[in-house]
Amino acid sequence: MEKITQLTEAGLFSRNVPRYTSYPTAPQFHEGVAAGSFDGWVKSLATGSKLSIYVHIPFCERLCWFCACRTQGVKSMTPVEAYLDILKVEIAKLARTIPDGVTIARLHWGGGSPTILHPKHIDLLMEWLRELAPIDPDWEFSVEIDPAAVNGDKLDALVRNGMNRASIGVQDFNEKVQKAIGREQSFETTRDIVEGLRARGVNSINLDIVYGLPHQDAEALGKTVAKVIELNPDRIALFGYAHVPWMAKRQKMIPEDALPGPMDRFNMFNQAYAALKAAGYVPIGIDHFAKPGDSLAIAAAEGRLRRNFQGYTDDVCTALVGLGASSISRFPQGYVQNRATTNAYAKEINEGGWSATRGIAMSPDDQLRARAIEMLMCEFAVNVPALTAEFGSVAETLCPDLHRIASEYPNFTKFDGEVLTILPEGFHLTRIIACELDAYHTTAAKHSQAI
Ligand code: SF4
Repeated sequence: MEKITQLTEAGLFSRNVPRYTSYPTAPQFHEGVAAGSFDGWVKSLATGSKLSIYVHIPFCERLCWFCACRTQGVKSMTPVEAYLDILKVEIAKLARTIPDGVTIARLHWGGGSPTILHPKHIDLLMEWLRELAPIDPDWEFSVEIDPAAVNGDKLDALVRNGMNRASIGVQDFNEKVQKAIGREQSFETTRDIVEGLRARGVNSINLDIVYGLPHQDAEALGKTVAKVIELNPDRIALFGYAHVPWMAKRQKMIPEDALPGPMDRFNMFNQAYAALKAAGYVPIGIDHFAKPGDSLAIAAAEGRLRRNFQGYTDDVCTALVGLGASSISRFPQGYVQNRATTNAYAKEINEGGWSATRGIAMSPDDQLRARAIEMLMCEFAVNVPALTAEFGSVAETLCPDLHRIASEYPNFTKFDGEVLTILPEGFHLTRIIACELDAYHTTAAKHSQAI
């Protein structure tokens, strides 16, 4: 009980804080960093750089009410094909701009539902992407699979084009929960896709579970976690439902009075965490799990875990270039995001320009704080000697902040003058503690619940 009181006082059940998939966070992006920065940053990529490419497909056959992704529902392939035509132009312009000697080491298709694409579209999109830059022989190509918009032919097309990782959203298998979030998907449907992927040689499969959904309780979530474990995925993500109807209008369909409260969310998370650990999964960062031999678990054990827009990763590419409407690119110099709507994105690409419209150039202080926050989110520690090795003596400017954090969170952290460590008791406060290193954070920005 005492621990709950301390967590309450620290704001776990009342605060809204960023997830820190980037730092500075997206609310800090501004129009002063746009197409010109994107162009210059692409051209400055050095020979030997490895690129990660993200392709956003903002269309779905169904629109699930809980989802805050930038996507739109479509009844025909006409708008999807029109969008692909624009993507082709953007990819070709990027191919002309990328310096020689850069290779592609990672490719991720997300959305929306990339599996809304038909086999002929998948073949074409990959044909264009192969023109971008040479592909590393040991590249990773991952795709978000929507069980409602995939079939054997589409899986065949993805696999023949190199897909070697797949991610499937489960959320919760409970029917009442599924009805309340507008996403009906049986266990059997999910199982068939997992088996279909494995039969085609895709052995790296991630399943997403979401806690905090309407009508969800510990029993429903417990059954879902058990069924997910039965499917034996290599990785599992356990995300908290972010109820942000002011941003994602379709979340207005979610019955707010059926949403579990913060304490229920806390208990559900803990229960799922314990069940996944007991099943042999290694906890990764704040909300991921992986089999012990999985590359993410190995990266975590070796201190190579990183954090980006897709969550936790062992991606060490120099830059991530986002293609398509609303996608965000990350360069050593900063972040830049494409126009959010497909119409505005298409207009700018058709006019021969880039669609990058807002972003942020990172100052030396941003770079330092970004790495420190990433360390906290990945390793639950900020290691000043390691930061000094990377950034020089300027890393020591963080020490007053680290001292302050240790004195403000004495039950949850400790600082020995070199390393700030989040104690196991402070695990749930990781995002809140990361906030203490965020030079931009204000309570005015609307983020998701801390738990
Ligand atoms: S959860 Fe997936 S299928 Fe549902 S709306 Fe979001 S992106 Fe589309």
